[in-house]
Amino acid sequence: MSKTYEYSDNTQLSPHFNISEFRCKCGKEHETLNNPELIKKLEKLFTALNCSKIIVTSGYRCTAHDKNVGGSGTGQHTLGNAADICCYGQDGQPISSKIVCCKAQDIGFRGIANITTAYIYTHVDVRPNGKWYGDEVHGNSSVTDDFYKYFGGEDMKGIDVSVHNGNIDWNKVKADGIEFAILRAGFGRLEKQKDEKFEQNYAGAKAVGIPVGAYWYSYAMDEDEARLEADVFLKVIKGKQFEMPVYFDLEEKKQFDLGKEKVSAIMRTFLKRVEAAGYFVGLYGSASSLTTHTADDIKSWYTIWLAHWVNQTNYSGAYGVWQHSEKGKVAGINGNVDLDICYKDFPTIIKGKGLNGYGKEKALTNPPAPVSDDGISVEITVDGKKYSGKLNKV
Ligand SMILES: [Zn+2]
Ligand SMILES: [Zn+2]
Repeated sequence: MSKTYEYSDNTQLSPHFNISEFRCKCGKEHETLNNPELIKKLEKLFTALNCSKIIVTSGYRCTAHDKNVGGSGTGQHTLGNAADICCYGQDGQPISSKIVCCKAQDIGFRGIANITTAYIYTHVDVRPNGKWYGDEVHGNSSVTDDFYKYFGGEDMKGIDVSVHNGNIDWNKVKADGIEFAILRAGFGRLEKQKDEKFEQNYAGAKAVGIPVGAYWYSYAMDEDEARLEADVFLKVIKGKQFEMPVYFDLEEKKQFDLGKEKVSAIMRTFLKRVEAAGYFVGLYGSASSLTTHTADDIKSWYTIWLAHWVNQTNYSGAYGVWQHSEKGKVAGINGNVDLDICYKDFPTIIKGKGLNGYGKEKALTNPPAPVSDDGISVEITVDGKKYSGKLNKV
């Protein structure tokens, strides 16, 4: 049951919530209804998500205000049972509503809904009976019995392509439901071994808004060669932005003949070097090579792109992308194409961390202008925006 508070009441209800945050926003200074169970559960949510703060954008609403903002006038907000919230993580960034909905479900909120297309705001309530798991982006009805299934079920369908796939009609690819593409950037340790269609595929996929990743096919036989391959890969992908990880692809028989330890050392060298340059880097491998030729520290630190051409993989390790077929058919591509499924929201993770050309890795993108006594002019790019200015000698 809700309690009634004066409009001007500033009671601290719990460590992180004050009654004043739940006031109706209609402009009239009337009383506030608030259910103690709502506050108890919000505190649990705060802890479960390890929040830095939770902002209540809408708490109690009088009938008139509820109708004004599109409600029925009798909904959970008018009873003091509901809050629309934005949860912030320790990094100061909003936590995805997809995650908030799942945690709210664990905690036992009985009404839960994502309420914005960007998955920033979430409605939660402690309605006395019944259950409503909604997604206002997809209408106002109950959408699921289980948010983990509902949001986890949004796996992305993708492809990986190289020069062997010829000229690709990316508009048709997109229309066929492909949601990401991993592009071969090249192979070996010479810059001239850049994939002949890499630039064209990158531009094509970007033009239609398909998130892209990249991979480098290795022939390295030792750590020195792996270093050279990493450097040429970095040169080839320089200045580009990848929403998906960039991968190291090692699969030559003569490499595996070196044995697990040497193969793992080659992998580590390449992966570390690309990672250090500001990239979200992963390893491509078959189920068997990951099992027999890849050290555990690599599999636990780097994201895995699993190649296993079966209906149901029995690979027991973790992976973010699964290449499940080499014989897919996709509109806009002649012949067979590799098909992939992605299980992680890499675009959000990568942009959030500012990796893969999205900003935070390198401040200086252009060499400084000639130095004179009164300082140097520099231009830097951060998050895609250019800044210029003068640095003075100290
Ligand atoms: Zn009001
Ligand atoms: Zn609401």
